[in-house]
Amino acid sequence: MAVLPIRITGDPVLHAPARPVTAFDDEIRALVADMFETMTAAPGVGLAAPQVGVPLRLFVYGWTDENGQEHRGVAANPVLWLSPMSIGELNEDEESEGCLSLPGERFPLRRSNSAILQAFDADGTPFEVHADGWLARIFQHEYDHLDGILYADRLAHPHGKAAVKAVRKNGWGTPGASWLPGVDHPED
Ligand code: ZN
Repeated sequence: MAVLPIRITGDPVLHAPARPVTAFDDEIRALVADMFETMTAAPGVGLAAPQVGVPLRLFVYGWTDENGQEHRGVAANPVLWLSPMSIGELNEDEESEGCLSLPGERFPLRRSNSAILQAFDADGTPFEVHADGWLARIFQHEYDHLDGILYADRLAHPHGKAAVKAVRKNGWGTPGASWLPGVDHPED
């Protein structure tokens, strides 16, 4: 197992749709193990394959809720159903999210409160998860990565502009940039 470099916004693999997983073999299981290790080292609550430079429709997640229950899994070729989004003012405390491909930054974004995830695990076994709140947000964020969409692409005014500024300030937005959890500390 290995911690993998995480691509930073501007790298083409983050901005293009990923391909379906077609074989649930040892290679995929090794990738999944590396992705879990990378997510833990970052640390993060979700990581999509394009973020480690692999253009496949695959993400891992690991998040402990306010009751101490751990939600952890791998989703290949996911399908996501979403509840309608509420309208009204954004709550920056409760609706701000971050992304390991824009390390150290956070911006508020409205998401659907509920989601149903259908996907395959690393052995190709189908499963379904009903999620609310933060877990539903994680699923939406990671699913977007598989379509080449970063949360920064979805931000409303004035947060979208602030994200563009942050990308420029950090010197991101060009191909080939990455950081290595445990070695680089981009939030410092
Ligand atoms: Zn992300």
